[in-house]
Amino acid sequence: MRFGVSHVLDAIERRISTDPTAAGGVVDLAEVVRLADLDGGRPAHLLRLGLVIDALARHLSDGAVAMYAVADRALMSDTDLTANERMVIRRWSDDGKVEVVRAGGPAAASRIREVAALTGLPLLTRSPGGYPGLSYAPAPGPTGPQLIPQLPGPGPAAPASVFSRTWRCPERSCPSFGAPGTREPDPFGPPPTEEPREAVSQPPPQLVGGVPHCPRHGVPLQDFGVRPRAVTMSVRVKGVSWHRFVVTEADPVVVGRAPEEEDGVGIGLALDEQGLRWVSRSHVLVELRGNTVQATDTSTNGTSILVRSGPGEPPRRVPLNRGGPAPGRRRPARLRHGRSPHPVHPPRLMASYPRGRAGWLRPRYRHTVATSGWPGTSRPAKPGR
Ligand SMILES: [Zn+2]
Repeated sequence: MRFGVSHVLDAIERRISTDPTAAGGVVDLAEVVRLADLDGGRPAHLLRLGLVIDALARHLSDGAVAMYAVADRALMSDTDLTANERMVIRRWSDDGKVEVVRAGGPAAASRIREVAALTGLPLLTRSPGGYPGLSYAPAPGPTGPQLIPQLPGPGPAAPASVFSRTWRCPERSCPSFGAPGTREPDPFGPPPTEEPREAVSQPPPQLVGGVPHCPRHGVPLQDFGVRPRAVTMSVRVKGVSWHRFVVTEADPVVVGRAPEEEDGVGIGLALDEQGLRWVSRSHVLVELRGNTVQATDTSTNGTSILVRSGPGEPPRRVPLNRGGPAPGRRRPARLRHGRSPHPVHPPRLMASYPRGRAGWLRPRYRHTVATSGWPGTSRPAKPGR
């Protein structure tokens, strides 16, 4: 049984990140572990994080999206969790996978609003308070935990301008704002997949009177110079998230059947015969300017964008303007994010854990709720490098 739990915690660990370009939602870990109605188990259970990650993955039809989890320091001494669970949270914090905020500063429940506002990621909570952006409540559903839209968004413009600088914590080995390569790999965690390097994105600083601070150490951060802002886009083919890629202000990305451009995203392998005829080798250019994503049609057959003007409204297909005089002319347009019109069901993180043990995952759903289909963010996550 211990082996089963460890196995699932390892799987969860690969899907938590404080890198906003990897994450698809923000949670307060203390709230999530206590959502007992999701499974009817004991009062606090760390594996509930996996259930909420699965709900997010289904919502976005993206089986690789990660979660940005924030926790109060008190959670690491919460005796409703097992000693093993508390130890795992401590390790996740030391590795920078979960953001544990210092005692005496703003609580995790308010920090998640700040993270959501600065990154543009949706807030996943049952208590959104007055948060003005997109938020969802994790809730039991007929086929498992699901996300119920609560507030329509869109919130503040994101990514916020604070992301245009590189920030460093005076604590050199800070898991959030330390220098790359100063931390030893964790001997108890899954083996690291890549060499230490400057990440494409950083966690959002905590703004205290407008001054960026480290949320872990409560000290002002040092400005290490200009850094391009970054967002993550997702290529979906027939509802399946085929590839996620980061677009920065410095690096526009071309998507197409087989782009010749360096770092272009080729989707030829995902297309059927009709798709191969329709999609050009270099079909669309995606750029980030400040906090606006621009799409420029570079194709033979044209590009449309899906626009939603409010919660519950179906997406409207708007072709990019093709009135230009010359073929191949670049036609900029503002791209709106939207949920895939054909949701699919990615493999569940929690499927590997046996059901029915100690009440865990035993279905006990008291109510079912309808979803309105309001888009998730399509600011999905970093590419599977
Ligand atoms: Zn720090």
